[in-house]
Amino acid sequence: MIGPPGAGKTMLSKRLPTILPPLTLAESLETTRIYSAAGKLASGQALLARRPVRSPHHSASGPALVGGGTIPQAGEVSLAHRGLLFLDEFPEFPRAILETLRQPLEEGVVTIARAHSSIEFPARFMLVAAMNPCPCGYFTDPNKPCKCSPHQIDKYLSRISGPLIDRIDIHIEVPPVPYRELRGRRDGSDSATIGEQVLDARRAQRRRFGDHSTMLNGQMGSRQLRKFCKIDEAGEQLLKQALTELGLSARAHDKILRIARTIADLAGEENVQSDHVSEAIMYRRLDRQL
Ligand SMILES: [Zn+2]
Repeated sequence: MIGPPGAGKTMLSKRLPTILPPLTLAESLETTRIYSAAGKLASGQALLARRPVRSPHHSASGPALVGGGTIPQAGEVSLAHRGLLFLDEFPEFPRAILETLRQPLEEGVVTIARAHSSIEFPARFMLVAAMNPCPCGYFTDPNKPCKCSPHQIDKYLSRISGPLIDRIDIHIEVPPVPYRELRGRRDGSDSATIGEQVLDARRAQRRRFGDHSTMLNGQMGSRQLRKFCKIDEAGEQLLKQALTELGLSARAHDKILRIARTIADLAGEENVQSDHVSEAIMYRRLDRQL
């Protein structure tokens, strides 16, 4: 999420768990094992009932974030397994630490190498990162002037590497609150209503991938993309145009298809249509720079 200070990025991320589906028993067992091994299970607590939400500060060390230590311990990425990892002020995290997020984002595990062996911790989390659009924070704010030079903005944004940005599915701009209120977009959707839509979309995915599969749209490989994300001629044209004009990577191309599939599922549509594709392209905000 990119937006000026006070736009509600932190508030939005805090509300996100309220629309996520409840933990399944298998997921609960996985997360409970991690918490138990880390000695973080409250006494008398048998199972974790809710998706974990972790929000480490940008001053957290590498081992604290991704795991490590002499006796390897699970880090925040593993404590957020099957839940949410919220990183506020994303560019303030040391770049070297941010780069270590690439493996868990890609593979859902984190490997900690030691002299004679290596240990793998599960780390399949949803990453939510928030950042200002520039060092002063007001570049995208229509009401406050930005004091940053183009060079300062470039330097600030380049703290997040291209490959890492590429691995984040959805980039959205969060406008300042007064602007949102002026637009009067209060359609009254509450967490319970949206939560139901999410559950419906999950059901559609179970029908697609099979009852016993834990696969979600976001994990589709190229074979499934070809099978389940067929788009119409208009959508094909849009995607082609976005690829050439914005210079998107192959990875971004596949992400757009997966996101478009999810937008179609949320709308209860069997087929991916061109407006789903165009909405998905809008969520690749950082591919075309600010
Ligand atoms: Zn600025």
